[in-house]
Amino acid sequence: AKTRELCKEIRDKIVDLHKAGMGYRDICPILKDPAALKAVIDLFEEHVRKNHQHVELIIGLDARGFLFGPLLAQRLGVGFVLVRKKGKLPGSTVSVAYDLEYGKAEAEIQEDAVAPGQKVLLIDDLLATGGTLYAACELMKKQQAEVLGCMVVIELKELKGIDKLKSHSVFSLVQY
Ligand code: IMP
Repeated sequence: AKTRELCKEIRDKIVDLHKAGMGYRDICPILKDPAALKAVIDLFEEHVRKNHQHVELIIGLDARGFLFGPLLAQRLGVGFVLVRKKGKLPGSTVSVAYDLEYGKAEAEIQEDAVAPGQKVLLIDDLLATGGTLYAACELMKKQQAEVLGCMVVIELKELKGIDKLKSHSVFSLVQY
């Protein structure tokens, strides 16, 4: 029932973002609907309590991982850390370059944000090719954190992002 609730609030859009007329799954209506947003956080919380009781930090990916991550972290009583696009974080940072569907990017984290051995879960809105989450996992490796798994609201199955993340478990609420 909760999954149905949030599926109602995922829109298919045609956008001219990187190329004219590309398909895009829009999660903004979920945020606008308190019942759908609650369903998202409930489902993530259930998953974490069942499978990852020892999580110490939620790591959110720029930018829509920041919308769900802190709400989940609050529910779990753990901290939240940001992985940002290059040049946004103050102080010493660690970065990893990665390929996007259209171009290149760099993911960054504050050097002292995660301690060696800390158990972390990564969260973003959507898994497409897996490049973004893969880069975040590489950052965690550099920080010697222990990645318990990755979580997304939506997984686009045909892009096989899961293959890129092969050593990590991926939990998604909705698959297309
Ligand atoms: P990936 O690196 O190819 O897996 O792309 C995932 C990243 O791109 C995530 O941070 C998403 O926010 C963003 N993204 C890619 N496609 C979509 C989409 O259809 N809707 C919303 N976000 C998308």
